[in-house]
Amino acid sequence: MKTVTLIVPCFNEADVLPMLYKEVSRVISSLSFRYSFELLFVDDGSNDETLNIIKAIAERNTQVKYISFSRNFGKEAAMLAGMKNANSDFVGIIDADLQHSPDLIPEMLVAVDDEGYDVAAAKRSDRAGEAKIKSALSAQFYKVINKISETKIDDNAQDFRIMKKAVVDAIVSLEEKNRFSKGIFSWVGFNVKWFPHENRERAAGETKWSIRKLMRYALDGIMSFTVSPLRLSFIVAVVLGILSVILAFLGLVIPFNLPDYRIYMLLLGAIFFVTAIVCVLTGIVGEYLGRAYIEIKSRPVYIISETNIGKTIFDEI
Ligand code: UDP
Ligand code: MG
Repeated sequence: MKTVTLIVPCFNEADVLPMLYKEVSRVISSLSFRYSFELLFVDDGSNDETLNIIKAIAERNTQVKYISFSRNFGKEAAMLAGMKNANSDFVGIIDADLQHSPDLIPEMLVAVDDEGYDVAAAKRSDRAGEAKIKSALSAQFYKVINKISETKIDDNAQDFRIMKKAVVDAIVSLEEKNRFSKGIFSWVGFNVKWFPHENRERAAGETKWSIRKLMRYALDGIMSFTVSPLRLSFIVAVVLGILSVILAFLGLVIPFNLPDYRIYMLLLGAIFFVTAIVCVLTGIVGEYLGRAYIEIKSRPVYIISETNIGKTIFDEI
C-alpha cells in the first residue's frame, strides 16, 4: 500500500484541533483501502493546550505523529520540519483551522497517483472572509514580486497541497534559512494540477498573522527571490547622470552677465555627477554582493524530475 503523510502546522490551535482531527479522520478512513496514512502534527511552540491535545490523539491512534518546537518559529519552519520528517510516497500540507477543506484530499491523491501530476495544489478562488486591507496589501505585494523576480509566484496559490516524495526532496534540498515557501514551491517546478478552492472562514480560533508578521514575510519573499533592489543604485546613477548633464548644459548657456546662476548650475551639476559615480561604484559592489548572496544560498543548479540513469533492465520487470 502506498503511504501518505499529512503535515499539520499548529500554533495555538487547541480550539480547532479536535474538529480538524474528526474531519481528516473521516476522509482518511474513506481512503484506507488504498493508502496508509500518517498525520504529522507540528506544534510550533503553542502556549495553549495544542500539544496536550495532539499527545492525547497520538496515544489513541498510532498513525498520529508529532513534533513540538521549543518556541514559536513560524509556519515556514513548521512546514520544513514536517517535510524533513515525512518519508511517505506522498506528502501533504494542510492548515489546522479547517480553512483547507480535507474533502479535497481524495481528488488531490487521484491527481498525483493516477493522473501523473507531481503536485496537487489548492488555489484560492476568492478572498472572501479576509480583511480588505490584507487582500489589498497582498495583491500589491504579488504585483511587485512578480515584476522584479524571475520566479513567478501565483497570488492565489495556497500552501494546501499534496506532493510526490521527489518534490518534497527537492524542496528540502533548498537549504536556505530565510524560507519563503510560496516562492520555493514555484521555484522547484514540477507538474502541478491546480484545484480551485473557496476561502472558508476559520472553524475556530483566530488568524496567527499580524500585520507585522505579514510585512516581515513579504520582505523575506522579496529578499529571498530577487537581488534586484541591489540594482537600484544603478538606476539612481543614470537619473543623476542625466540631471548633471542638463545642469551643466544650463550652466554653459546662461549668459555671462548672470555669473551666480552659472556657478550654481555648474556646481550642482558637478555634485550630481560625482554622486552618480559613487552610485555606480555602489552598484558594482551590489552586483558582487548579489552573486555572493545567491552562492551562499547554495540552491541546487537543477532539479531532476525523472531519469532512467541507474535503472537496470530488472527494475522494469
Ligand atoms: N501557523 C504556525 N505558526 C505560526 C503561524 C501559523 O504553525 O507562527 C499555522 C497555524 O496554526 C495554521 C496555519 O499555520 O495551521 C495557517 O495560519 P493561520 O490560519 O493563522 O493563517 P491564515 O489562514 O489566516 O493566513
Ligand atoms: Mg487560516
